[in-house]
Parts: sequence; structure tokens; C-alpha cells
Amino acid sequence: MATIIDGKAIAQTIRNEIAAEVLQLSHKYAQVPGLAVVIVGSRKDSQSYVNMKRKACAEVGIRSFDVDLPEEVSEGEVIKRVHELNNNPDVHGILVQLPLPKHINEEKVLTEISVEKDVDGFHPLNIGKLAMKGREPLFLPCTPKGCLELLSRSGVSIKGKRAVVVGRSNIVGLPVSLLLLKADATVTIVHSHTPDSEKIIREADIVIAAAGQPLMIKGDWIKPGAAVIDVGTNAVDDPTRKSGYRLVGDVDFEEAKKVAGWLTPVPGGVGPLTVAMLLKNTLDGAKCKIER
Ligand code: NDP
Repeated sequence: MATIIDGKAIAQTIRNEIAAEVLQLSHKYAQVPGLAVVIVGSRKDSQSYVNMKRKACAEVGIRSFDVDLPEEVSEGEVIKRVHELNNNPDVHGILVQLPLPKHINEEKVLTEISVEKDVDGFHPLNIGKLAMKGREPLFLPCTPKGCLELLSRSGVSIKGKRAVVVGRSNIVGLPVSLLLLKADATVTIVHSHTPDSEKIIREADIVIAAAGQPLMIKGDWIKPGAAVIDVGTNAVDDPTRKSGYRLVGDVDFEEAKKVAGWLTPVPGGVGPLTVAMLLKNTLDGAKCKIER
């Protein structure tokens, strides 16, 4: 039976470490890290993510700067607010909650965030450096960084291992594969046009599943003893729940736990790490400025 990686507990440990460092900074320099969270419109899911992030900041002593803009705000106004945050020395990280309304060009807005405050790690310069040998990005994207943190804190070594990443999105699949490569794994990326993905996944010592396909990866797709990190977060109908749905991963958890060596649950696996890594990036950004 697989060791179930408790993302919630690992994230809590990291948050405690962050809180201790924030306290040290405030004692030594009378300053605390600041994170600006920009939200446009009133999408319920985005609002709940933003509230969660703001609450998480408060819990570790990070000051959050709330920028709540109406759905009909112009692209120019959003960019103006981003520029203001870029120039505010109390703000060490800027996060623009996606998706933005259709009339706003997301790429344009994200590119305006100062690379030194890009705590989401999506700025092309940060991604570019992640892809280059011998270069270090200022920030790593939170979910991919969280996946590697789960592996290292569970004692899974990466060097020399065969890793398969399922998915190649800009926010998860691609950056996590680059991170694994930087950590000396031999990496294969599987996507929607890959034939025989099952066969490729079966060769992996480490599987990172980020396809957004509920329960796609079955137990017999997994090499016995492999470490399986399930990023997928998919809502499926469940009439037995009050909400009418439940969340499942890309991996068939019940089957996989009989075969894998390590396995993350959904929910309670990668999700909590994503928020913890956002706090960590904000702290690191602040330390660069405050301690210099
Ligand atoms: P995207 O939809 O942007 O990307 C999905 C990727 O999976 C694409 O590259 C796609 O290939 C590939 N894919 C789709 N179907 C298959 C298939 N059958 N076989 C192999 N590859 C396939 O999703 P995201 O990367 O944004 O998110 C992936 C999942 O992770 C989602 O469930 C999302 O909710 C979750 N997520 C969880 C987070 C967390 O904190 N826990 C954070 C972010 C995402 P192609 O490129 O060819 O289209």
C-alpha cells in the first residue's frame, strides 16, 4: 500500500516555518512581507480562492493588499493598478487572480507585473530562466514548486529517476517538467496527442498528473512503488453530497494506492501546497528587498 502524502500537514509545517521567519523580519527590520491580490469581477470560485489566499496571508503575518475591481473595469485601469503596486515598496508580491473577464488581455496584464514581484512565477522571464541551464528564476510557479516540495519532504529522490508529467500547460505541466529536469530527472511529457500514454506512464518512477481528466490514470498504469503526485482537481457529480458534486483527481486513488509507493489525495494533496508556496514566494521576495 502506498504512503499517502498528507499535503495539508506538510503545508501547515511550511506555514509555521514562514510565520516564524515573518516574525523574525518584523523584529529585526520592523517590516513585514506584503502581498497584493487583485481580483476583477465576482466569479464565485475566484472569490473563494482569493479569500483563501488573503486569510492564509493573515495567518502567517503577511500583510495583504486587497484590490477588488468591478467586472466592467477597463484593461488600462487594471494595468494602472498593477503599475501602482509595482511602485509600492510595501508590496513584495503581486497576484492577479485568473481568469480575467474576456475583454481584458490576461497576457498583457501579467507581463506588466514587475518580474521582482511575480510571486506566481508566470512572467516569461521567470519561465525562461527556469528553462535555461545555469539560470535561476526569481520565483517558481507555486503549484509546480509545491509538487517538488511534496516529493522532497516525503523523502522521494528525483536525481536519475524517470519522471512522466501528464499535461503541458503553462501553469502546471510545462514548469513542473522543467523543474524535474533541473533536479536531474529524465523527463517525458505526455499530452492530449500522445499515443500510448498508458505505456509511457507505466515506465515512470515519478508521475505528475496534471491533465484535468477525472480518474484517467488507473492502477495498472502505475509502476509498482512509483511516486504519484495528482495535481488534477475535477468536480464530478455526486448526488449523495449536499453540494451535488465532489472533487476527484486525475488518478484513480483507490486503485493507485494499492500499487504506488507514494500518492497524494485529492483534495488535501497538492492544493494546500500551492497556497503555501505563494506565501513562501512572497516571503522570499520580501527578504530580498528588506535584507539588502
Ligand atoms: P489545462 O487544461 O490548461 O491543461 C491540461 C493539459 O493536459 C494539457 O496540456 C492537455 O494537453 C493535457 N491533457 C488533456 N487530456 C489529456 C489526456 N487524455 N492525456 C494526456 N494529456 C491530456 O489544465 P491545467 O494545467 O491548468 O490544470 C490541470 C489540472 O490541475 C486541472 O484539473 C486543474 O484543476 C488542476 N490544478 C490544480 C491546482 C492545485 O493547486 N491543486 C492548480 C492548478 C491546476 P494539450 O496541451 O494537448 O491540450
